[in-house]
Amino acid sequence: MFSKPNCPVIAIEEHYWDAELCKHFSGPEGGKGGLTEQQLFDFGALRLKDMDDAGIDISVLSHGAPSAQKLPLDIAAELTSRVNDRLAAICAANPKRFAAFAALPTIDPQAAADELERTVTQHGFKGAMLHGMTNGEFLDHPKYWPIYARAEKLDVPIYFHPSLPHPKVTEVYYQDYAKDFPLVVRPGWGYTVETATQAIRLVLSGVFDKHPNLKVILGHLGETLPFLVWRIDAALKRPGQKAMSFRDIFCKNFYVTTSGFFSNPALLCTVMEMGVDHILFAVDWPFVPDSKPGTDWMKGVPLSDEDKAKILSGNAQRLLRM
Ligand code: ZN
Repeated sequence: MFSKPNCPVIAIEEHYWDAELCKHFSGPEGGKGGLTEQQLFDFGALRLKDMDDAGIDISVLSHGAPSAQKLPLDIAAELTSRVNDRLAAICAANPKRFAAFAALPTIDPQAAADELERTVTQHGFKGAMLHGMTNGEFLDHPKYWPIYARAEKLDVPIYFHPSLPHPKVTEVYYQDYAKDFPLVVRPGWGYTVETATQAIRLVLSGVFDKHPNLKVILGHLGETLPFLVWRIDAALKRPGQKAMSFRDIFCKNFYVTTSGFFSNPALLCTVMEMGVDHILFAVDWPFVPDSKPGTDWMKGVPLSDEDKAKILSGNAQRLLRM
């Protein structure tokens, strides 16, 4: 049972920071400091050593939250293009080890769609990653649908990554405990609620009726949704509501990754609801500061070598055409 199948390992939620983009972060998303910050800016010794120690062949790089989602309109498109061009140069310098998800200037949806196409066709990027709200809005509003139309046309996925919850949510839900437990606002619960809500809203919005081949990726084993899909589906099928099957859309159009979530019971639940073909390996480095526990965990998961190989790289090779 404890074995790694003979296959490459591709990790697809591995973050970095761009120095120019970081200058525009403010408040609690700006400062990390210490080793994590060094890791985020490193594409050599620190990052490659972590990958080698863990047996990761390829990292699909993406900017850390909030990436380009909070940029103001007047600078968003041009700045994000520079960020993506620099990421393309990093990948081109080491193409055997690095691939990329684009950052997109969502505040200008048409420019974001064009930037997605530019980075995919010119730089070979594998899709895009979006981090939370833009201007306090979730990204299911029809004004953002040009991004999803372009993703469907290019047949590349959009990865919905967590960012900090809306300030009003933080105040009402978390402020009583955020001082003693600051991470309850982040991976402890806040990120999960925010990103699962974004995913549910995408399904409710009807974007998958208009774009039935749109592919969406969620990290963190689907932000609790594989556990909840039966209940959400049953509730939304009760009388008096618009006809739709949450479960059909979630299990067909969504893919999930193992980023920051190395649990056998949670993985098996995800396999049972979504099927192993919709699960991809990721670490969430360097917010998970060491990748080796992730690949070590995969060796012992109670799945066949064939299924482990799909999660470790086969599904990424198919979905991201690597
Ligand atoms: Zn992440």
